[in-house]
Amino acid sequence: MGIIEKMRLDGKAAFVTGGARGIGKSAAQAFAQAGADVAIVDMDIDEARKTAAEISGETGRNIVAVETDVTSKEQVDLMVKTVVDKFGKLDIAMCNAGICINAPADEMTYEQWFKVINVNLTGVFLTAQAAGKVMLKQGYGSIINTASMSAHIVNVPQPQCAYNASKAGVIQLTKSMAIEWAKKGVRVNSISPGYIGTDLTLNSPNLKPLIQEWNRMAPMGRLGKPEELQAICVYLASDASSFTTGSDFVIDGAFTCW
Ligand code: NDP
Repeated sequence: MGIIEKMRLDGKAAFVTGGARGIGKSAAQAFAQAGADVAIVDMDIDEARKTAAEISGETGRNIVAVETDVTSKEQVDLMVKTVVDKFGKLDIAMCNAGICINAPADEMTYEQWFKVINVNLTGVFLTAQAAGKVMLKQGYGSIINTASMSAHIVNVPQPQCAYNASKAGVIQLTKSMAIEWAKKGVRVNSISPGYIGTDLTLNSPNLKPLIQEWNRMAPMGRLGKPEELQAICVYLASDASSFTTGSDFVIDGAFTCW
């Protein structure tokens, strides 16, 4: 089989958390274009349904929407069961839902800290754990966790210690699961995007005013687009990456090279 065929996802079943919009939606589109059936998992079920209908219309794949808050173990376990019941198996899990709250470290409240860590780190743990249990039984599967360049550098000028710590945690969690499951057919990798134009950045009242400043610092002078992360997601989901596990992929237009 040639390399392009190996990157196809025909007959595979996937889910993407935070799949209703932004990076998750774009990854779900890519998985479906490559041939996979995909569950769009999100707290925002109306948007998830719209996204599922859009991707299904574009690709003809079986795309479903599942309402889930990734911080709830019960909801995550039920979501994975629903996906497996629908598709008969689970090949690809993208644990992508995440939030950002900006506050100086000395002023950050316990509630702000806890919320960010709970969604970004505990949510990824619960989701990858539930997916991993199914994949370990199957003897195969690929898990892709969304970390961030904020796991590698401290973003400036905005203060976001909880976000940065949560994303560094996602990378170590990824490596830990990858080692534990390496001989069992389950691969676990993470992606670390630089600034990407999504609702999280473009429509956040705190972050939007900083875009000019980020662009000034960015070697390419611009934000990335969600679709510029699609190829790495398809690669990691596919059999083309069969020797790739425990790796983190920084896709940031050289932002962290300074
Ligand atoms: P968006 O805010 O555009 O989309 C995130 C989606 O996740 C939203 O639909 C949101 O729903 C959903 N979500 C939030 N909390 C939960 C939850 N508890 N359970 C289920 N779904 C939830 O974000 P992006 O696409 O920009 O970000 C996706 C991931 O990429 C995040 O992990 C983010 O940290 C990471 N990332 C983003 C970068 C960027 O510059 N945009 C850079 C590097 C990493 P709702 O809108 O209802 O809250």
